[in-house]
Amino acid sequence: MIERLTVRAHLEASAVLAEGDLAIDATAGNGHDTVFLAARVGESGRVLAFDIQAAAIASARSRVEAAGFGGRVRFFEMSHAKMAEHSAPGSVAAILFNLGYLPGGDHRLITRAEETLHALDAALALLKPGGLLSIVCYPGHPGGDAEGEAVIAWACRLPPPFIMEIERRSDTSKSSPFLVLIRRE
Ligand code: SAM
Repeated sequence: MIERLTVRAHLEASAVLAEGDLAIDATAGNGHDTVFLAARVGESGRVLAFDIQAAAIASARSRVEAAGFGGRVRFFEMSHAKMAEHSAPGSVAAILFNLGYLPGGDHRLITRAEETLHALDAALALLKPGGLLSIVCYPGHPGGDAEGEAVIAWACRLPPPFIMEIERRSDTSKSSPFLVLIRRE
């Protein structure tokens, strides 16, 4: 069976995360990724979770609290482009971006290419050696196609020590989601 790309992103992040790490959920949404990260970094680790929507922060917070991880997560109702103001360069083990709109929310409030690229630049500077930046892109909604292309073009230009990999499902169309993984050597 083909696993979902979000599951794939979690598997890749699991391989680099350890107890006590710092991780970032750049798009908290309904908190599924936040809970995953909080579980992986353990009691002594920390997760910073960003979203521009109050409804998303509330939804993510309630999922995190229900999982018993409230003490491990700090929420920021602000753009992920500001993540560098809240953590030190080279300090973060894994950063997850799950682009697009909030499922069950306002579909007009989407991540936008220009802001996303600013945030990705900020994220690169925060990654520690061995760290992973994961970006799930959704070209199927208006604006998502241009954003996906912008992310690929950005990733293709990255110099060492960053290594880029794109995962697509071979049996799917141009509008299907894809995963971009950036590793810092
Ligand atoms: N990771 C989430 C989960 O596990 O449920 C799903 C994320 S959802 C696909 C995308 C989220 O990105 C939406 O909640 C949206 O509000 C948020 N978003 C859009 N622009 C943003 C920005 N500039 N900074 C942070 N979050 C943003």
